[in-house]
Amino acid sequence: MSRLWSPQIQALSPYVPGEQPKILDLVKLNTNENPYGPSPKVIAAIQAELGDGLRLYPDPNADRLRATIAEHFGLTPRHVFVGNGSDEVLAHAFLALMRHARPVLYPDISYSFYPVYCALYGIAAEVIPLDADYRVRLEDYARPNGGIVLANPNAPTGTALTRAELEPLLASNRDSVVLLDEAYVDFGAETAAALIPRYEQLLVVQTLSKSRSLAGLRVGYALGQPELIDALERVKNSFNSYPLDRLALAGAVAAFEDRDHFESTRQRVIATRARVVNELTALGFQVLPSSANFVFARHPEREAKQLAAELRAARVIVRHFSLPRIEQFLRISIGTEAQADALLGRLGELLR
Ligand SMILES: *Cc1c(COP(=O)(O)O)cnc(C)c1O
Repeated sequence: MSRLWSPQIQALSPYVPGEQPKILDLVKLNTNENPYGPSPKVIAAIQAELGDGLRLYPDPNADRLRATIAEHFGLTPRHVFVGNGSDEVLAHAFLALMRHARPVLYPDISYSFYPVYCALYGIAAEVIPLDADYRVRLEDYARPNGGIVLANPNAPTGTALTRAELEPLLASNRDSVVLLDEAYVDFGAETAAALIPRYEQLLVVQTLSKSRSLAGLRVGYALGQPELIDALERVKNSFNSYPLDRLALAGAVAAFEDRDHFESTRQRVIATRARVVNELTALGFQVLPSSANFVFARHPEREAKQLAAELRAARVIVRHFSLPRIEQFLRISIGTEAQADALLGRLGELLR
């Protein structure tokens, strides 16, 4: 804290990212990265971009990437906004679309960046509790609001709503933006992107960080009708004209073009998740149904915080949140089969 800081900054509690350890031989299951590398075509595309061209600014409009993403979803480039990770896209969306007299609604247990954006931008928020089974109860969102933000699948719970479940909310909530954060959608949930032509207030946000193994490249995007996208462009062009560098643009296009790699790696994650859920259950854990590349689990007889510390001492890192309602849960990312062996083996020893 310093007297030189703007007053609002003194009051912020910034988001705390999961640990990125410098020690390399850890089984790292704490930040939901993809355990499989990006497509070799992504690496080749980035390497091809390395050269004298780097003295030039990148395309401020990311035309080629937006066209590639649009084609993937059957939309037009005017329906696509790209940013430096979906965190940046979400931040722009909160500022551009969520700052109204009425509060934005989001669940009590969800992505912890949402309250941070509200505090940063002075947006009123109303937190809606998940039900006793840690599920989003959509009826609770039928109330006056300045916007609705749902992660689907939700994080850190992993549970998902179907498109059919979500559509009535869109049909009844037409005067404020409904933002669906689909960071994990490719691991077993349904995207709402197909509803965009019918709902002018729907904004879908996705990322290349999880299902396309590119957390290190920082590329995210929003899909919505051009009127919503234009609002995001206004914020972006008031902030940073070039959020995506040349390497990120080239790599992201290649990532969308290699569908086989995307399909095979996500299927491997889904298969390992089924095994991890089964074996955690056999060890006595209660595991919430997951449509994501992580599971959220609690053991009725063990303190989650201590279990996380014991796992860390055994060189496996998972995420624990010291937050109301979820302090007895561990969020465990789905890694490779070998990482699952390590996790389950060490948990078996600790629980014996
Ligand atoms: C990982 C994650 C994001 C952000 O991902 P980026 O790496 O910034 O694209 C957004 N929302 C949720 C719920 C996430 O878990």
